[in-house]
Amino acid sequence: MGKVYLVGAGPGDPELLTLKAVKVISSADVILYDRLVCDEVLSYAKPECKLVYVGKEDGKHTIPQEEINRLLVYYASSHERVVRLKGGDPFIFGRGGEEALYLKRYGIPYEVVPGVSSLYSVPAYAGIPLTFRGVASSFAVVTGHEATGKEKSIDWKAFKDIDTLVILMGVKNRQRIAQELVKLGRKPSEPVAFVERGTTPEQRVVVSTLGEVAKDPPEVSPPAIMVVGQVVGLQGELSSLLENLKKNMEGVYNA
Ligand code: SAH
Repeated sequence: MGKVYLVGAGPGDPELLTLKAVKVISSADVILYDRLVCDEVLSYAKPECKLVYVGKEDGKHTIPQEEINRLLVYYASSHERVVRLKGGDPFIFGRGGEEALYLKRYGIPYEVVPGVSSLYSVPAYAGIPLTFRGVASSFAVVTGHEATGKEKSIDWKAFKDIDTLVILMGVKNRQRIAQELVKLGRKPSEPVAFVERGTTPEQRVVVSTLGEVAKDPPEVSPPAIMVVGQVVGLQGELSSLLENLKKNMEGVYNA
């Protein structure tokens, strides 16, 4: 009987992998990986490692979670080291908790290797700190996936007075979310940022306001993180600061 490692692959930039993740990935016999895991991360695998893609693809058949659970048990019964590789952190909206419970139920040893979550690293690369003295002393993270219609299960009232809101999986419902927040009394002038493909070379930042997103939402495509709050206002200043810092650092390294 092998062991299963539930591993966070970070938000995209392969340098944000943890040392522990690299160690576990490079000794894996099988890796089951998701859509948000980049190729460079997989390049740490041994040449003989079996790579199994279990991610979703828009409009195509998706492997149900139950099937992924079964695959983990199946591979653990015939391989020593099985890695379940997920984007960001495995226990944040990644169904890693369910997989851990399933493995436990089947008596399969497992270990969790936390990853750098997109929830704070993606805003950080875009120059948005989630907290800032005197501007934001609280933040909350919520899924935007369950924001509409029959599926609606989020009580947005809970987020009325939280300084910074980080919404994952919110691209599709962005207009509804903004409308909901304005209805609750958040100011239509409150800044909103969408960060697409954060920490990758394709990173794109779109800045708007709650009122604008509620009325006429900007074009955004997933994966993206939606940040609502005054901290978004720091974005321009901080991102240019970061650029300068990077340039200075290059100077140091190239010297
Ligand atoms: N476990 C992951 C989150 C999985 S949910 C983590 O800890 O980061 C998937 C959602 O995460 C996406 O819909 C998007 O909102 C966000 N996300 C993940 N990686 C991202 C990236 N590189 N850029 C922007 N958003 C990202």
